[in-house]
Amino acid sequence: MNTAPVSSNDKPPQVRRGILFIISAPSGSGKTTLCKQITANVPGLWHSISYTTRKPRPGEVDGQDYYFLDEPAFRQMIDRNEFVEWAHVYGNLYGTPRKMLTEKMEQGIDVLLEIDVQGARSVKKKFEDGVYIFILPPSFDTLRTRLQNRAGDSPDEIQRRLQKAKEEVWSYREYYYIVRNDDLKQSLKELESIFLAERIKTKRLNMTWLEEKFILDKEGKQGNSSSAPASKEHLHHG
Ligand code: ADP
Ligand code: 5GP
Repeated sequence: MNTAPVSSNDKPPQVRRGILFIISAPSGSGKTTLCKQITANVPGLWHSISYTTRKPRPGEVDGQDYYFLDEPAFRQMIDRNEFVEWAHVYGNLYGTPRKMLTEKMEQGIDVLLEIDVQGARSVKKKFEDGVYIFILPPSFDTLRTRLQNRAGDSPDEIQRRLQKAKEEVWSYREYYYIVRNDDLKQSLKELESIFLAERIKTKRLNMTWLEEKFILDKEGKQGNSSSAPASKEHLHHG
């Protein structure tokens, strides 16, 4: 094993791969509200835009909230393998496009996916290192009120979503963090903490600066200090 520290003059510092954050919740929990706010508050976070065959709700904008398309066009995208995952949700098709997600992560930009529990399950098989967050409403009654007040779905559709929520809540066990969205401000604080903490996990950090600041002399050579570590391993645990 080569134990010599690598001089930071050899190569530009490696850009760390972006982190994939996955947020799921029963419909009406406040996931979209929270995701919009968190994307505005946390720099370096890109919110992926999904494709769907669902019709736009009042106020929804194509290319901003979703890319809205018909089923044949969606099926063509499936055939061309353009989705990281796709699923049937509440009678419509939803999919996460692959290209932008891959590009952003390669550029070191963190990516936020707002997808249902089936989608999260299939992403988890491909992205073990993702951060899986589940949002819950404080109660079933609050969920009903929120869906009714949103006034975007028909009464039948709301009923369907409420029925599904009774099963979906139990998926919380598959996620790494739970945010109970009662007070919006508090939920945002909790979410923001998750994003910031995940970014400073030891395993995600590029610690080459430590060599520059503590070990290498001005010419980029290893100094003769007796406290220099014998191995780079010291810098990369966790
Ligand atoms: P989801 O994306 O999970 O389906 P939305 O973000 O569309 O949910 O939120 C559903 C409704 O609940 C919206 O009308 C939204 O303004 C409202 N809402 C979201 N979070 C809260 C909260 N913490 N307190 C009160 N109302 C909320
Ligand atoms: P809505 O119709 O309320 O916007 O979304 C319905 C459900 O579909 C939500 O749970 C939402 O997270 C989910 N969803 C949105 N985009 C995607 C996607 O690309 N893939 C999957 N699997 N679910 C999605």
